[in-house]
Amino acid sequence: MKQLEAELAARRADGLYRHRRTLESAQGVATVVDGHRVVSFCGNDYLGLAAHPALRSAATGAIEQYGVGSGASHLVNGHHRLHEECERRLAAFCGRDRALLFGSGYAANLSVASALLGRHDQLFEDRLNHASLIDGARLSRARVLRYRHNDPRHLADLLRRAGDARRRLVVTDGVFSMDGDVADLEQLAGLAARHDAWLQVDDAHGFGVLGERGAGLVEQAGMDQHQVPILVATLGKALGTAGAFVAGSEVLIETLVQHARPYVYSTASPPALAAATLAALELLESEAWRRQKLHDNITYLRKRAAALGIVLMPSTTAIQPLVIGDNEQAVRLADDLFACGYHVVAIRPPTVPAGSARLRITLSAAHESAQIDGLLETLARLLD
Ligand SMILES: *Cc1c(COP(=O)(O)O)cnc(C)c1O
Repeated sequence: MKQLEAELAARRADGLYRHRRTLESAQGVATVVDGHRVVSFCGNDYLGLAAHPALRSAATGAIEQYGVGSGASHLVNGHHRLHEECERRLAAFCGRDRALLFGSGYAANLSVASALLGRHDQLFEDRLNHASLIDGARLSRARVLRYRHNDPRHLADLLRRAGDARRRLVVTDGVFSMDGDVADLEQLAGLAARHDAWLQVDDAHGFGVLGERGAGLVEQAGMDQHQVPILVATLGKALGTAGAFVAGSEVLIETLVQHARPYVYSTASPPALAAATLAALELLESEAWRRQKLHDNITYLRKRAAALGIVLMPSTTAIQPLVIGDNEQAVRLADDLFACGYHVVAIRPPTVPAGSARLRITLSAAHESAQIDGLLETLARLLD
């Protein structure tokens, strides 16, 4: 324990120590955190659904009827009719044969790589992929080759030179979680097809917000199940609930049911969560204005930031990072913003590359333009 204590002290000295703040209100835009009323610009509740009355009543209704816990894993007796219905609706919504629910996106990503690949296989992934994809690659024991961020030419090079493998998997975030930019799915799908590789897209931040119907980057890019055979999306972000799903062919889903250890050896999520997700899906379909409002907010924030001389990273999504560089400076800026009533989180290494600590500003359909003005004016003053 002495050693651990020294490691923690070193982490503190490097400006890398992480602190949790405590939310005391519902999730949303106007929140109470550590006893302070703050406007949140850091959550992933992009459509303002996490505390929506329709989701609350779907969940409480299901709890009244079925109780809280699922009681067992999906393969024992925890697989509920509501999970089944949710999987059917998600598959149809994404234009895939089948979908499989997971307790979290982290578990879904560990599952895919470890169930599909082994020591004789190759996994190609973007250097800025989410940590769960990096850990999945490790767990799979496949040979891992990482290509430069959003650089299909580098990927092509690696694919050409990688030599023989039993199987090949190309893995990418759809919307990159710390940068907000998007993968070039058309190029990646073309390369995967040419090199006999499967393509897995983790659309955690695109699902619900991108595409005509909100089915995500894959819908926006017009990629069918043949082009993107493995689609992963999470439910804890735009959908406002929790968990994740993998969507694809019958064979893919059955393989995961048989072999994905994080799936097989874990208790199913509460059925009431599936009920809430079904309610969220209905809102996605009936209230397209939420997506439109989010996109209007993105445009507004970028226009106002430019006018104030605040240089955001080039992103068209709800993730609008402001790179600061230095770890301590980024944390100080986040603390000062908090004191002024704005909750924005500083993201530091190893979540982002060294020297690129940043404020990760996120937007929601629930933000009003006056709140965006307030954040940017305060930020401009603090940066001065
Ligand atoms: C949030 C996120 C995950 C993890 O999903 P959880 O449901 O929070 O475990 C996976 N991939 C990406 C790209 C994410 O942003």
